[in-house]
Amino acid sequence: MRPFTSTIFAEITALATRTGAINLGQGFPDEDGPQSLIDDACQAMRAGANQYPPGPGVPVLREAVARHQKRFYGLDVDPDTEVLVTAGATEAIAATILALCEPGDEVVTFDPVYDSYAASIALAGAVRRTVTLRWPEFTIDPGELRAAFTERTRIVLVNTPHNPAGKVFDEAELDMIGALAREHGAVVVTDEVYEHQVYDDAVHVPMATRPGMGEHTVTISSAGKTFSVTGWKVGWLHGPAELVAAARTVKQYLTFVNAGPMQPAVAGALGLDDDFFTGLSADLRRKRDLLCDGLRAAGFGVSPPRGTYFAVADAAPLGFDDGAELCRRLPELAGVAAVPVSAFYDDVSAARSLVRFAFCKRDDVLHAAVDRLSRLRSK
Ligand code: GLN
Repeated sequence: MRPFTSTIFAEITALATRTGAINLGQGFPDEDGPQSLIDDACQAMRAGANQYPPGPGVPVLREAVARHQKRFYGLDVDPDTEVLVTAGATEAIAATILALCEPGDEVVTFDPVYDSYAASIALAGAVRRTVTLRWPEFTIDPGELRAAFTERTRIVLVNTPHNPAGKVFDEAELDMIGALAREHGAVVVTDEVYEHQVYDDAVHVPMATRPGMGEHTVTISSAGKTFSVTGWKVGWLHGPAELVAAARTVKQYLTFVNAGPMQPAVAGALGLDDDFFTGLSADLRRKRDLLCDGLRAAGFGVSPPRGTYFAVADAAPLGFDDGAELCRRLPELAGVAAVPVSAFYDDVSAARSLVRFAFCKRDDVLHAAVDRLSRLRSK
């Protein structure tokens, strides 16, 4: 695990804290989620939900996940056998990979890649095969995708909406990936934690809804993103019963169970009215525009994301050719912290001068950040 000693997100947050910079690096909202969610968790704690909950997750949360998948995507999910509650999406990803991969098995991933994927693949002794998506469109090269599959491919790990690219995979892309997975007997593991954070005409399409894919797909999501409680670490996965059983076996020895009182509270939040979910994306779209307009005015090249709460910007037009170097100096140059996109790539040349900014922040914080960044041009 030596290559994984520290995460870029923890590093940048420590840098922001040390320097007092506005932290647009690590992706966490600066306002908590719905009050009813917080109240329900307090209530559950007072009512005595403080001992080990059931390993697969409390039944009301598993039922709420199944209802949510039916309500938003028309998916039929059995809450008893096809849902597992996990310690955030991070544990869902790790448990699934550890459950399905033997040492030497292969996992296809898309670069830029979320950092825990590579670490979980390494924990399993599996091998990562990378398909590179390139700024600004981040399109999939079909030849490169096909070449990433071999007879040892066990998993294709998809993330849509995609962190950090802000890309929302369309049906044709999902079908291309799904067809190759089926051809090679691989499972698609799909990280959909930003499922409710899509903008403009983008529509989130879960892989499990594509024809024939339900029985080959493990779907992962998290309360941290949808309900702005990243510190709660309540996530879940669902898929065919035998795959969920395998992940459950591993989960028993990773965390055994996870936090009890948060689970009924998240169950309630998953049933909130449509207004909550549409309000979330409308709010974030406004914040996206605020940040992207500000970055553009400050001289960055910007390709506005269609999903997630991250925007990737190119610092080359400002004369900064090395995004990693810029992120180290940005707190001192502009009083703002951001994450270098090279941290998400094997081939760092694909990320050159790219930096990622999070916009899940209060409007006044975003205004202050773009105001500070507008002074970069003179540096
Ligand atoms: N997923 C968040 C991000 O991309 C951070 C999570 C973490 O710090 N591991 O910024």
